[in-house]
Amino acid sequence: MEKLALYGGEPVKKTPFGTGKRFGETELQQLTEVIEQDRLFYWGGTKVNELTRRFADMYGMKYCVASSSGTAAIHTALGACGVTEGDEVITTPITDMGTVIGILLQNAIPVFADMDPHTYNIIPKSFEERITDKTKAVIIVHLAGNPADMDPIMEIAKKHGIYVIEDCAQSYLCRYKGRLAGTIGHFGCFSMNDSKHISTGDGGLSITNDEELYELAFRFSDKNYNRLGKTTSEQRAIPFVAPNYRMSELQGAVGLAQIDKLEWICSTRTKYGDSLTKGIFGLKGIYPHKVMEGDTCTYWFYLLRINEEEAGVSVELFNEALTAEGIVNGIGYVDCIYKNALFVDKSAYRGTNAPFDSKYYGREIEYKEGLCPVAESIHKTSILLRIHEYHTPQDVEETAAAIRKVANHFQSLK
Ligand SMILES: *Cc1c(COP(=O)(O)O)cnc(C)c1O
Repeated sequence: MEKLALYGGEPVKKTPFGTGKRFGETELQQLTEVIEQDRLFYWGGTKVNELTRRFADMYGMKYCVASSSGTAAIHTALGACGVTEGDEVITTPITDMGTVIGILLQNAIPVFADMDPHTYNIIPKSFEERITDKTKAVIIVHLAGNPADMDPIMEIAKKHGIYVIEDCAQSYLCRYKGRLAGTIGHFGCFSMNDSKHISTGDGGLSITNDEELYELAFRFSDKNYNRLGKTTSEQRAIPFVAPNYRMSELQGAVGLAQIDKLEWICSTRTKYGDSLTKGIFGLKGIYPHKVMEGDTCTYWFYLLRINEEEAGVSVELFNEALTAEGIVNGIGYVDCIYKNALFVDKSAYRGTNAPFDSKYYGREIEYKEGLCPVAESIHKTSILLRIHEYHTPQDVEETAAAIRKVANHFQSLK
């Protein structure tokens, strides 16, 4: 048995992980064109318009609305679906704050459903159990590029008349039984913040096939102005409040260059993530990131789970030992977001308990430990690994080798 690097042995990984530049000539060319058009505003410009058209085409969808962030893209979808004060919106707790911000900004109530212990996506049964007569929508987070189980979700949603918004911020070009995630619900919402598969610095895209929802979303992301209206008074008639989430031509231009790289980025990540799974398969107490049969995951990150008893090692020690082998990793992704003070203390708006005490809601809701037991345990007992298109096949092989080395070491001590 090889000695662990943690105890003075040779580390498995001796070379740095591969890196590369995300932005280059094509982005510069697009940006030059924007400057030459002498207009940075989307309306009357070309780039945001072209980006939305091309993204919709890429997804085989009729419509796409651009916005300033993934958070904005989701809020825009919620606004278009008519989510308002007193409504409940169901989602999963291990996610980015951007999933729930729009719910709260609509003065609606986030309700959390539990997650599958190995795919890290919503459990359809838990979704159904959380439905009440107040439920207006569900936000399905396809966590880490792994598609959620959409068939039962859509069936449940249809039965109860609930809007389905797919949060695809981490899941470009991932496929559920061959269908692209983001094309199955009423809206698919994407983020182009700098940490995502593609980046415009910040940016968001919401796709839909529903003409009416599209028009509502288009207006909602632009202060509810009706730029498609025929007269000025029609254009300026504001029926209800909506934010300004407009995307500028500069972001649109970079987005156009970035989406050309999407196929390569995603397919490389799929290859690397799947090969990591193969490389660590069958280790006792080590559970690879589970992708359901027939699905394609585009790994925004890779999360494996450790059963401490079976593996004979604590998550903390495993993490330390893996780091010593030269692997970049950490414990968990993010803790359940309902553990934040804004939920626990119901202090989403400073100095009040809105929207939780809204007269339009008229019910009690509590956010406390134990709300989603599986999600809580996922966070505590998982190891997060980076998957990146600029890594090399050798990086992936060595990551798998290091995991095997650490796992086998602790197994041999049992
Ligand atoms: C990144 C992210 C968001 C928010 O996107 P921003 O562009 O940062 O606003 C929402 N949901 C998930 C799951 C994310 O990962």
